[in-house]
Amino acid sequence: KEQENEAARTRDNLRCPIIVIMGHVDTGKTKLLDNIRRTNVQEGEAGGITQQIGATYFEPKTLLTRCEKLNKTENLNLTLPGVLIIDTPGHESFTNLRSRGSNLCDLAILVVDLMHGLEQQTIESLNMLRSKGTPFVVALNKVDRCYNWKSTTNNDIRSSLKDQEEGTTQEFRSRAEEAKLQLSQQGVNSNIYWEMGDDDWKNSDFVPLVPTSAITGEGVQDILLLLCRIAQEKLWRQLMWCGNLQATVLEVKAIDGMGMTVDIIIVNGTIREGDKVVMCTMDGPVVTEIRGLLTPPPSREMRIKSEYIHHKEIKGALGVKIIGNGFDKVMAGTPLMVVGPDDEEEDIKAEVMSDLKSVTENLSTD
Ligand code: GDP
Repeated sequence: KEQENEAARTRDNLRCPIIVIMGHVDTGKTKLLDNIRRTNVQEGEAGGITQQIGATYFEPKTLLTRCEKLNKTENLNLTLPGVLIIDTPGHESFTNLRSRGSNLCDLAILVVDLMHGLEQQTIESLNMLRSKGTPFVVALNKVDRCYNWKSTTNNDIRSSLKDQEEGTTQEFRSRAEEAKLQLSQQGVNSNIYWEMGDDDWKNSDFVPLVPTSAITGEGVQDILLLLCRIAQEKLWRQLMWCGNLQATVLEVKAIDGMGMTVDIIIVNGTIREGDKVVMCTMDGPVVTEIRGLLTPPPSREMRIKSEYIHHKEIKGALGVKIIGNGFDKVMAGTPLMVVGPDDEEEDIKAEVMSDLKSVTENLSTD
């Protein structure tokens, strides 16, 4: 089975990358996410953006439409089956990253307020991303607050910069240089993404900077296209689709009429109704059966009735709610594993708990 799964892994068969937004409070994480999701725009969901459990899924077509203008010059041949962006900026599963084995996110957007530069939580997020080896881009947000900024809604950022007067461009330049300097003081080499040289692109520790405005949408197509490029050109090995389930618990919550439910992000592989799974609790491993796999209805109108869609099986990467028994003490940020027909339950239990052990060790050394 392992060999079969291995054979199915090719560069042509990738899963969605999972992207998370991090950064200091008030830098614009929520606004940026809203702008990317087009939360306020009616056409949003109809246009191939769907709300999942704990995450938003973007179809490839939508990504290409959003980035159309920029991609005329960038010419990215999109091969990803879309992207999945985690909905809660600074979610505890990432900020506390409890899980050693299941690296939940593939890529991060670290948001910096261009007016403030690096702040305390920026540095904390930065260190966490580096310790996990998670690649990231920096959004230099609130570019519209440069003096006398002339904005064009949803423009690509280079076109917008060309529209500015000399003084505005200079202010932007000096603030961007300041951010670069502060990053280098943290040991991070960075540059405005279109000014990076070939060697910078090859260096996986080099960080691209993308000026954005979460209010006007300027630079948003730049950040989306850049994330897609990095994912498919640099991370394709880890994004190759495989049969082995890799999943992380995002949240445990009670829902009316369902009891305790567990929201998980399936990073890779397939999960099925009836699967026997193991999860972590402070009291030890819990072994239980998946009684239901739920996703929200496809449109916002239907969601008012809060009826979920039931599935027999679901493939990653995707967010899904599971129902079953014994979920009460399951811990967010820990892995969920399936006990397959060839697996020893005791081995899986030990593996799941070894993850938690490393967590508690981390907590006690903090
Ligand atoms: P979070 O705490 O990082 O999620 O920050 P929010 O998204 O809540 O934004 C904090 C404040 O900054 C709000 O008042 C936003 O309206 C404002 N803001 C966010 N992004 C931008 C931006 O690009 N330009 C401007 N001018 N204001 C912004």
